[in-house]
Amino acid sequence: MSSKMASCIFCKIIKGEIPSFKLFESDKTLAFLDINPLSRGHALVIPKFHGEKLTDIPDDQLSEILSVTKKLVKATGATDYNILQNNGAIAHQVVPHVHFHMIPKPNETEGLGIGWPLKAADMDKLKGYYEEVKSKM
Ligand code: AMP
Ligand code: ZN
Repeated sequence: MSSKMASCIFCKIIKGEIPSFKLFESDKTLAFLDINPLSRGHALVIPKFHGEKLTDIPDDQLSEILSVTKKLVKATGATDYNILQNNGAIAHQVVPHVHFHMIPKPNETEGLGIGWPLKAADMDKLKGYYEEVKSKM
């Protein structure tokens, strides 16, 4: 086992070494309540496979994430909600084990607050970028 895995708080939750409010568990996926909820029902869905960022997780280990997230939405009764997955410290990732937040947005003040500074694109630059990325897909 790598030392990163041994010290990982979410790997410890998976192994039952620290307590959590588990809501769903299968051989490759775990869902549990967030201990600092932004709103009632804020929960996390994680692959049991340890990896820091989304690209570190094999595809087959991610196959249940969206369906389990949907189950959480239905179980909490959330009608408005955000699904969030942060990668890297500058992108607000604190726990270095991939996790998907399901955050109910019951009103303006509770849940996720998002600043969304929309700017119109320079269409020539956007087209150039599009060609570049598309060629790598
Ligand atoms: P992020 O900023 O995306 O890395 O979010 C990490 C999330 O993990 C935060 O919302 C924390 O409240 C949550 N968290 C950290 N430790 C625990 C824990 N022991 N049990 C449940 N949630 C946790
Ligand atoms: Zn881990």
